[in-house]
Amino acid sequence: MSVLVYTENWKGSFRKSTFEAVSYAKETAKLLGMDVVALSIGDVSDDELNKLGNYGASKVLSASGIAKGDSQATSNLFAEHATNVKVIVFASTYTSKMIAPRLAAKLKAGILSNVVDIPFSTTPLTVSRKSFSGKAIEKAIVNTEKTIISLAPNAFGLIECGGDCNIEQISTSQTRSVTIEGEEIATGKISLAEAEIIVSAGRGLKGPENWGMVEELADLLGAATACSKPVSDIGWRPHGEHVGQTGKAVAPNLYVAIGISGAIQHLAGVNSSKVMVAVNSDAEAPFFKAADYGIVGDAFDVIPRLIDEIKKVKN
Ligand SMILES: Cc1cc2nc3c(=O)[nH]c(=O)nc-3n(C[C@H](O)[C@H](O)[C@H](O)COP(=O)(O)OP(=O)(O)OC[C@H]3O[C@@H](n4cnc5c(N)ncnc54)[C@H](O)[C@@H]3O)c2cc1C
Repeated sequence: MSVLVYTENWKGSFRKSTFEAVSYAKETAKLLGMDVVALSIGDVSDDELNKLGNYGASKVLSASGIAKGDSQATSNLFAEHATNVKVIVFASTYTSKMIAPRLAAKLKAGILSNVVDIPFSTTPLTVSRKSFSGKAIEKAIVNTEKTIISLAPNAFGLIECGGDCNIEQISTSQTRSVTIEGEEIATGKISLAEAEIIVSAGRGLKGPENWGMVEELADLLGAATACSKPVSDIGWRPHGEHVGQTGKAVAPNLYVAIGISGAIQHLAGVNSSKVMVAVNSDAEAPFFKAADYGIVGDAFDVIPRLIDEIKKVKN
């Protein structure tokens, strides 16, 4: 028996969320006394596939010929290789969200999303998962023979173990149901899902012409940029930057919120951040109750001063 993990790639390269899923699979496999098998789909070089060994995969099954968004063909392929599998692990990505539920239906497996830690019991398999938009942690027990676990973003971290893996090319007889014509990066230099630091701004910035200082601060910190819902609704910023209950859920190490009131729907998508800093001219803004650090002040005064201070430290 083994733990199977989906190792998603972006144009042939793995990202942090993939290595995090493999690290999680390895720690779970240790508890179960099993090995980790990674399933990779698409054209990925052997050098890149070998990196999976460093996070705990002992074997990599590599299949090409299926489009990344083809959830039917991908879940069929997964099911073919899940016979001797106890747990299947997915990172929190759009593709995983398409594949995991289909696979659960095919395998009649229990499925748990937003999982934050390795199982604290294996008989029966019991894990902690986020619920109520991250405001509560739930203890969930799985009663099926196989379990599908999908991780909460940035919840687990990376564990390098310096191992090697065997790579096996597998052929697929799956009929393509989807062909991807092309992909276009939505916005931003750093992906929100992967960002360690996010600088986010809201309606307090008054207009799109004032985002220069937000971008400058983000560049200095090596951060991704985000925004509140009304800001993307009005068209000041692209929809891809909208975070919150109805936007992206993020969990960076540092979240800087500038001119954002801190409505519950916004906090729902950002309150898993390790440290939150709020800048707001209103000392009563709800964000200050959730933030670790707060600056009461006018963003047009505070942010340029913050930029100057960071430049001084960097120099
Ligand atoms: C079903 C539903 C889902 C929703 N989903 C989301 C979601 O996913 N994400 C989301 O963000 N919202 C969401 N909302 C909207 C949410 O309720 C708030 O309306 C929204 O988050 C407010 O955005 P804001 O803080 O940018 O704007 P505002 O509420 O207008 O707040 C602006 C803030 O800027 C401060 N400010 C003003 N001028 C300055 C200045 N010069 N310097 C510093 N601070 C200043 C003000 O004091 C204020 O606190 C949702 C609402 C509903 C009903």
